[in-house]
Amino acid sequence: MRIGHGYDVHRLVEGRPLVLGGVTVPWKLGLLGHSDADVLTHAVMDALLGAAGLGDIGRHFPDHDPAYRGISSITLLRQVAALLRERQLAVGNVDATIVAQQPKLAPYLTGMRRNLAVCLGVAEDRINLKATTEEGLGFTGIGQGMAAHAVALLKEPEDM
Ligand code: MG
Repeated sequence: MRIGHGYDVHRLVEGRPLVLGGVTVPWKLGLLGHSDADVLTHAVMDALLGAAGLGDIGRHFPDHDPAYRGISSITLLRQVAALLRERQLAVGNVDATIVAQQPKLAPYLTGMRRNLAVCLGVAEDRINLKATTEEGLGFTGIGQGMAAHAVALLKEPEDM
C-alpha cells in the first residue's frame, strides 16, 4: 500500500464558474486559476501523485504552460489515472474534504463522486467526499477562497 496527501487552495472571484469535482455548481463566485481551478480535483490529483511517488500536479501540468489554460481538471485527472495504470498502481480509496463557507455543497457531492470514480475507473464506494465550513474563520470563512484536502491509498501490483 502507498498513501498520499493533497492540499490545494484557490481564490474566489466574480466572473468565473465554480467547478468542483467536475461539477459546475451554480454560485455568484468561481475559483480563479490557470485551469478551471477545480480545487477538489487538484487536491485529489496531488494525493494520487504523492502516493505514486510522482511529485505533484505543478510538475506534470505546469501553470505557465498555455496547453493547460482553462483546461478541465477532470481531463488532467484522467491523465493522472493513466500514469497510475502505467505503473500498475490501483486506487484503493480516496477521501477528500472541501472547505468552503458557501454555497451548500452537499447536493453536488454525489455528482462529484461519480465524476472522480469514472475518471479513475473505480467503483464509487472507493471515493468519499465531504464538505465543511470553517465556521466563518480564516480565508475560507470570509469567502476569500476555498480549500480542499485529500488522501489516497494506492495498491502496488503484488497486493492485487
Ligand atoms: Mg490548484
